[in-house]
Amino acid sequence: MIWFSPFSPIKSRAVIFVNGCFWHMHQCRFFQFPVSSSTKGRGPQWWREKLIGNRQRDLENIEKCRELGWRVLLLWECALKGTEKLPELQVLQEITQWLESGSHYLEIPFPSHENTQNS
Ligand SMILES: [Zn+2]
Repeated sequence: MIWFSPFSPIKSRAVIFVNGCFWHMHQCRFFQFPVSSSTKGRGPQWWREKLIGNRQRDLENIEKCRELGWRVLLLWECALKGTEKLPELQVLQEITQWLESGSHYLEIPFPSHENTQNS
């Protein structure tokens, strides 16, 4: 899904992708590969290929946008939904700050690095 926000003028060359966490394999509480009891007639392998294909296309689309000189903001579903969603005002502030910053890329929520530990 691509959303040109009303406060994102085309001249700022910014594109905002709003991604569903399941369909786009976000590493968060909303994503896990379907187990066979919930695959609706599709095998786990089908889902794995489907979802990995989605993720691969996302990365390619982001890369294409950047090659064409567009700035990219990736806004994940989990920032907007559920008990751990971010405050709406914070999301809006992060988006507007990013639009004004000239930075080339932003993800909301900012990716956590839970698995990186300093020894
Ligand atoms: Zn998510």
